[in-house]
Amino acid sequence: MTENQPKPENEVISIWGAGCAGLSLARALAPHLASGRISAKAAIYGALTPAIEHSHIWGFWQTAWLAEAVQLSRKSWQYWQIITPFGRVTQKSERFAYHGLESAVWLKDCLKQAEGQLAFKQGAPEPGAGAGDGDGDGDGDGDGQRLGLGLVLDSRTPDVPENSLLQHFKGWEIKTDKAVFDANILTLMDFRCDQSRGIHFIYLLPFSENTALVESTFFSEQTEDSTFYEQAIQTYLKDIYQIEDFQILREEAGCIPMNFLSPRDPSLLAIGANGGCVRASSGYAFAFIQKQVQQIARHLAEGQKITQVPVPHRAVDRWLDRVFLAVLKAHPEAAPDIFLRMAKALSGDELAKFMSGLADLSIYAKLILAMPKQIFIAQIIPAFKRSKIKRD
Ligand SMILES: Cc1cc2nc3c(=O)[nH]c(=O)nc-3n(C[C@H](O)[C@H](O)[C@H](O)COP(=O)(O)OP(=O)(O)OC[C@H]3O[C@@H](n4cnc5c(N)ncnc54)[C@H](O)[C@@H]3O)c2cc1C
Repeated sequence: MTENQPKPENEVISIWGAGCAGLSLARALAPHLASGRISAKAAIYGALTPAIEHSHIWGFWQTAWLAEAVQLSRKSWQYWQIITPFGRVTQKSERFAYHGLESAVWLKDCLKQAEGQLAFKQGAPEPGAGAGDGDGDGDGDGDGQRLGLGLVLDSRTPDVPENSLLQHFKGWEIKTDKAVFDANILTLMDFRCDQSRGIHFIYLLPFSENTALVESTFFSEQTEDSTFYEQAIQTYLKDIYQIEDFQILREEAGCIPMNFLSPRDPSLLAIGANGGCVRASSGYAFAFIQKQVQQIARHLAEGQKITQVPVPHRAVDRWLDRVFLAVLKAHPEAAPDIFLRMAKALSGDELAKFMSGLADLSIYAKLILAMPKQIFIAQIIPAFKRSKIKRD
């Protein structure tokens, strides 16, 4: 088999779930379907995600595999800051700038790129073909195959274990009369807000001097009433920027599990959040989804049989994330100090690499040395005990 002779292992490719991962995979497959390098028929099942009309922002650090997302992003920042009541760190990275991408822009572009190459089946996956029961009873023929549906790549939303830490948030994109924001610096985390209900910070993306997305974000096990996040945003804008009058242009809200999730149906090949793409310690997933779907498309174009979907996080990152999550759960009050220490220990390039799964040994060493040792060491055993209980 040479490079120019594609070997279709699967005559049909079925993508389940038309959200970020499903549509991004459709986008990644499209050029290969058009060129005939992948000669399978491909279809995507499920209603289009609301994020295609009701836009929210995907934030990510620029990396080599995100060139198309970078092209489409609304704004990028070379400076970002982490702030607590006790200190502030501002970092800079030209190479790994932070980008804000509108979900509607990305997803519509995915549809455009995939047009004519994949069939869009708005309904749920067809039950008649032995699919869609989601019971994981192995009624397929193995290797992610279900009778009649060929290679199934399942991006349907996974279940979340009960005691998971959640990243939950509500944000407003606002417009002010006065020019109050520094449009060059985004705020990744500002802990100068109410800490009484868990780890709470404000995430602020300034699009201009008078427009910004301002989000009240928690890492905790319980979501809050809408009014709580709204109140937090109002208080923050008043206390920090002395703004009380502003126009709300749009709002966004979400809840991302910060945990190691099992695929919704273990007999299928899971992708996206269902396929382990959410970085458990941060909730970031967009960059990892793109990495995963591009890898799948490349393997299929090379004629490889896909028997396992690559999890886009390295074992060392998953190990550290597990300990980090255990620390956050056991010591939420230490979170502002921990994030500030992390930012102080690393340069902008290094933080961006760490957040994007590209850390090297020196970055891990700096992080480990910067952390409060006692509470981290104390959580190593509980972190792994907890995960065992969940699997059983
Ligand atoms: C508001 C919000 C903001 C976020 N911001 C960021 C960010 O800034 N940076 C970042 O890296 N990550 C971010 N994330 C996290 C992550 O990138 C997104 O959650 C991303 O959409 C996950 O992609 P996915 O395809 O796995 O899931 P989804 O995009 O949720 O897609 C899953 C799809 O499966 C469908 N589905 C479910 N059940 C079925 C069924 N039975 N049959 C058919 N279809 C079904 C759903 O309707 C949905 O369309 C954010 C998440 C949210 C919600």
